[in-house]
Amino acid sequence: MEVACRRQALAVAGRCLADHLNADPSDEAGPWLPCSRCGGPARYAGRHAKTFTTALGPLTLTRAYYHCAPCDAGFCPRDRALGLEDASLSPAVTRMVGTAAALVSFIESRELLGALAGLTVSAKQVERTAEALGQAIAADEQQHVVPAPAAEIPPTLYLGLDGTGIPMRPAELAGRPGKQADGAAKTREVKLCTVWSAEGQDAEGVPVRDAGSVSYSAAIESAATRDTDESCSAFAQRVDREARRRGFDRAKRRAVLGDGAPWIWNIAGEYFPEATQIVDRFHAKEHLSDVAKVLYGAPNDLGDAWAKARHAELDAGQLHQIVAALAAQYRARRDPATRQEVRKCIGYLWANRRRMRSPAFRAQGLCTSTAVVEAGCKVAIGARLKRAGMHWSVRGANAIIALRCCKLSGRFEDFWERRAERHRAS
Ligand SMILES: [Zn+2]
Repeated sequence: MEVACRRQALAVAGRCLADHLNADPSDEAGPWLPCSRCGGPARYAGRHAKTFTTALGPLTLTRAYYHCAPCDAGFCPRDRALGLEDASLSPAVTRMVGTAAALVSFIESRELLGALAGLTVSAKQVERTAEALGQAIAADEQQHVVPAPAAEIPPTLYLGLDGTGIPMRPAELAGRPGKQADGAAKTREVKLCTVWSAEGQDAEGVPVRDAGSVSYSAAIESAATRDTDESCSAFAQRVDREARRRGFDRAKRRAVLGDGAPWIWNIAGEYFPEATQIVDRFHAKEHLSDVAKVLYGAPNDLGDAWAKARHAELDAGQLHQIVAALAAQYRARRDPATRQEVRKCIGYLWANRRRMRSPAFRAQGLCTSTAVVEAGCKVAIGARLKRAGMHWSVRGANAIIALRCCKLSGRFEDFWERRAERHRAS
């Protein structure tokens, strides 16, 4: 009964709104208006009806229509005034689509919108709308950096950098080298920047990430800057924007967390030379577990015990013990591939030794093992973009990533406010 009543109430409200708008002919502003494409004169050509999908259900609006002969195209001034110019979905529905598609797949979004809001939209419509919205959000993110007020910057801020591969359409990967057996690629790397604070502590005095303090910014883009390039890489610029937005550049104490990837430490060194560099312990442990798998084969008790011992040494800052254990393995093994893996791991530990001083970081009250960076990739990217059967284009992925990061960072409202302001201004 309640669902039926809601449907009726919405239909009544929808009819009222449509009647109200259709009774107002003031959108006919004389016989000519400047064409929205070429600026030349466009002639009034009567009132045209079109049905829009709105939060109140389908509404048929009759609007003044202007046609430009040279462009052979027309426009309705009222559509622009109501924010309807690009699509048949109303702004409120566009927003609902964005909310759903940021969180779940396009097909699931369609089902949710139908079940919760009584909307009939196709999965394709969800995809197109969410991508257009995501592109607008991505452009807005690049143009809009409001630095955090000084009073709101916590004493210690953390910046995490990470990368994760997402499955791509074959056409998007033509000619790109990859990790497949035949040298081809199946994925492209999304690079993610997250900022958070950890002023709170758990019962043992270990800093824990403050709820609601995490923000995300990510894209498939390059982090490499060549010496001959005039500007920094697209991702370095993204990190710079996010750091300014959160006040990371002004925090009293700063730490950059990442795994061992060189591009991470290049950006950290160049942009935040005073920040403490910390290898996320979660990543380091994963590395050691991977080596255990190489040494002892698929998961088994021996390998687990070996990895556990190394994890404990890592927590205790005993890198020498880890290296000694690896060196012993190296001497005992004859298989070149295994020896190669062990040597690589020793190299990784050596290159990052100053970033793995866990006891020293703990003594300074810094958080080193929240796994927040890795969780960031899983939460912000994996949970939405690495699901079974998904294959992305760079354009589509970057749009949905921008939409999702905006939503997860609590910036969706701000985006809509800015969009409405721009709309009023034009
Ligand atoms: Zn024209």
